[in-house]
This record gives sequence, structure tokens and C-alpha cells, in this order.
Amino acid sequence: MLDTQITLKPDLAVDYLFDAHSKHEYEEYIQKAVQYIKTFLDNDCFYSGESAEMLKSRKEGISVNSQTNLSLDQALREIKDVFLDHAISFHHPHYVAHLNCPVLLPALVGDLIASSVNTAIETWDQSTSATLIEKEMIRWICNEMNFPAESDGVFTSGGTQSNFKALLMARDHYAFTHYGINLKENGWSDEVSKFRVFCSNKAHFSIKKNAALLGMGYDAVIPVETDDKMKMKVDALVQAIEKEKQQGNIPIAIVATAGTTDFGSFDPLQTISKIANEYNIWFHVDGAYGGCYVLTDTHKHMFNGVEYADSMTVDFHKTLFQPVCSSAFLVRDTKYFKYISYYADYLNPIENRDEEHPDLIEKSIQTTRRFDALKLWFTLKVTGAKNLGGFLERVHHLAREVYYIIKDDIYFEVAHKPELSTLVFRFKIPGVSDEKILDTVNLYIKNTLFNAGKASVASTKLNGKTYLKFTLLNPRTTKEDLIEVVKMIKEQGLIYATNN
Ligand SMILES: *Cc1c(COP(=O)(O)O)cnc(C)c1O
Repeated sequence: MLDTQITLKPDLAVDYLFDAHSKHEYEEYIQKAVQYIKTFLDNDCFYSGESAEMLKSRKEGISVNSQTNLSLDQALREIKDVFLDHAISFHHPHYVAHLNCPVLLPALVGDLIASSVNTAIETWDQSTSATLIEKEMIRWICNEMNFPAESDGVFTSGGTQSNFKALLMARDHYAFTHYGINLKENGWSDEVSKFRVFCSNKAHFSIKKNAALLGMGYDAVIPVETDDKMKMKVDALVQAIEKEKQQGNIPIAIVATAGTTDFGSFDPLQTISKIANEYNIWFHVDGAYGGCYVLTDTHKHMFNGVEYADSMTVDFHKTLFQPVCSSAFLVRDTKYFKYISYYADYLNPIENRDEEHPDLIEKSIQTTRRFDALKLWFTLKVTGAKNLGGFLERVHHLAREVYYIIKDDIYFEVAHKPELSTLVFRFKIPGVSDEKILDTVNLYIKNTLFNAGKASVASTKLNGKTYLKFTLLNPRTTKEDLIEVVKMIKEQGLIYATNN
């Protein structure tokens, strides 16, 4: 067919493209979207309480097919109905479940700019000064951690990916420096099946998951006992390392957690760094939750020893009031990125490598990557690190207050004293010691409060028993808000106890 025979469709809606022709429409649609987003803020409860069945019954609103062709106004009305009216509000004082923070306005402005301009941060020729801004954000957090001058890092999709990169580097570095094996280029080696990684038994599941993805398997991760403050026991760590060596296995890394997901507990970084140094193995610090507490006056001292880490994970979307995604992966020496780097002819050919015009793709396992650093830049410029540290101190203080309120209450048992901003506890029925009943009543409380849209509380397990968990990340939340949630928990618990 000759080119001239191709007829172009005449009625394409190019008005919707973001460019110099659509400035007016851009402003109009963003303003309309803002009006709808404001209705989300007007929702009374953290959740409408609509059942999954009811939400699924809005199939028509959710579905798309080849005939779909709504106006933007229609689509906005529809998204209110199928999503905004039922979305979970992380800013609501009764949302105390997971590590989801309320977000800051400067971060949202940064995100709007990042999305509209749509910079991809993989190469200099796609990003120019965006690359400089990301590098500056990395330099800032490395300095906060007292990392050495050769330290470096990159933004990632989250703590899971950051931990993945840490284990990949630990694995490949060990194989390379001890056996001259180049896993990146040559693939699997049998030695790797003997590699062992040590972390506390309260460490995040992504350590095991990543070990499996990296071909080492769950069995490569050795859980180390924790003390009554939920911190890794260092004598148990040394014993575990020695035991694995005796069995012919090869210790390659220790992962310390700076703020465990459930208890906010910090493993003793200083001592663990010395042990890693003695065994000459990789030292990774998972600060996905606790890393940003380095900005506080109350917790800064707990970071002593972090400066010896070979790598570190810090999630800004957990504890720095950033929209998802925003996470940093840091290394003490930029040369470790050689285990990840790849030079593609079409994108970043090795002969064009140039310190003056860096291509951040060298440091990332993603190719196309969002300009997530911009949100943080706005936040640090406008809200400021001091304020952010203050927010974290406040939510820590809140967790302590709730602890003191419920610790002597006969209807509650607390599992720990909050080290950061979580509190693990459970409802007790005085006189009842049957664990099955206590597990059931706590799950009943959690589910009933969620389904009614009254409060979202998390649950977790400790020594096989079911507990409830508060994760506090909202600096506007008051003690009174939380007393209200505690009251609801008690009410539901007592309703269950009377009816069963
Ligand atoms: C949340 C968390 C992770 C995982 O981070 P994502 O950003 O959710 O991928 C890893 N480690 C710890 C300690 C966490 O709390």
C-alpha cells in the first residue's frame, strides 16, 4: 500500500495532549480535579465502610472497553463514585494501621510538576538538572547519616527494592572479592547456595523475599533472636554466624533494622557494625521505617554506627510525609554500583560516560524512572528538616502517651514500650486465658472497626499470638483522638465477650 492511501482519522482528541496548545485546558482540568480531591477531604470517616460486594457492584463505573469515550467531567464524576468516596484516608486521625503517612502540600506541588513535565531520570539527556536535584537529595541524606565522602545513592520504588539492591551487592561483592566470581556477567555459581545473611527475627519480610529472588532462597536468611526490647541479641548473632560456618556455610552479610516494622525497635548498630567488620562481611541497615528519625533530637544517638554501613535503606514515603513512591538506597562507596550498572548503546554507551553529565541509570535496576526526588526537594525547601524531625518526635510522643494510658488497664496487655511511633498491644478479657479466644476477639475488633469505617487498626503476631497495632504518623492527631480509638476497641471487645 502506498503511504498516500492511508487516511488519517479526523476526529482524534488531541486537545487532551499536554503542550503549548492546551495551557488553558490544563489549568481548567487540574482545577476541576482539585475540586473533586477536596470532596475526598470532606469524607467524615477514614473509610465509607462500603462492603467489597457493594464496591464490586459498581462494575460498570470501573470497567473500560474499546467503545469507552467519556468527557473528562464524566470521568471525574465517575471516579468520585467508584474511588474518592471510598478511598482510605491516611490523614484521618482514626487511621492508625500501617506505615502510610499523611502527605505535605509542598510534596504534592512537587509531584504535580514532576508528573506534568514527566522527566525520566535515567540519563542526563532526559533529565539535565533533575539529575542534579536527585543527587543533591542523596547527598543530603548521606550527610545526615555521616556517610563518608565516597558515599552515594539513588532513589528507588521503596524499601523492598532498596533492600533487594543491598542483598544483590552483598552477594556479588562477596563472590567477586573472595572467589573472583563475576555473577553479573557469568551467572550462577554453586558457592552462592551456601551464602548466609543474618538479620533479627523481627526484620522485614523483604529480606527473605529478596534472598529468594536473588537465587539464594529463604533458607539463606538466618533469623537471630531478639531481646525483650525486640532488638537483635548480639551474642546470639555471633553464635549464629559461628554455627553456620561450622556447617560449611558462608556468612556474607548482616542486616540490622533501624526501626522494625512492628515495634520500631533499633538493633544495636554500633556493635553490629563491629561484628560485620570482624567477619569482613557486608553491613546493611534497613531504615525503611526508622531512617528519617535521624532528623530528630530524641533519636539521633541511636544512629551511632550507621556511618559504617556498606548500604542503607531509607523510605521517605513512610516517615517523611511524601506521596508514594519516595525511597533512597545509599552505599558507603559509589564503586559498589558496578554490580548493577549496564551500558546500553542506545541509552548510555560506555564511551560517553562522563562525570560532568551523569546518567543515573548506572545506579538503578529500573530504566525509566520517575523524578521522585522533586517532592522531597520541595519538602526540604519549604517545610524544612527541623520541622520534619519535630513531626516525628511528636508522633513518637503520642505513641508513648497511649502506652501510659493503656499499660495498667485490665483490658489491655502491651507488648513493648514504643521506641518510635508504633504500639503493639492486645485486648484482654479479664479471667480468660484461652489464647484462641483472645486471638479471635482481637481480630473481631479490628475487622468490626474497619468494616464500619470507624477506625483502621493493624494486627500482627508475637510469639504466635494475635496483637493489635497502632502506627502513628500524623502530627496533627491528638491524644484525645487516640483515646477515642482505644474506647472503641474496648467497646467492641466487650460486645464480643458478652455475646460469646
Ligand atoms: C516498610 C518496610 C520495608 C519495605 O518498604 P516498601 O517501601 O514498602 O517497599 C522494608 N523494611 C522495613 C523495616 C519496613 O518497615
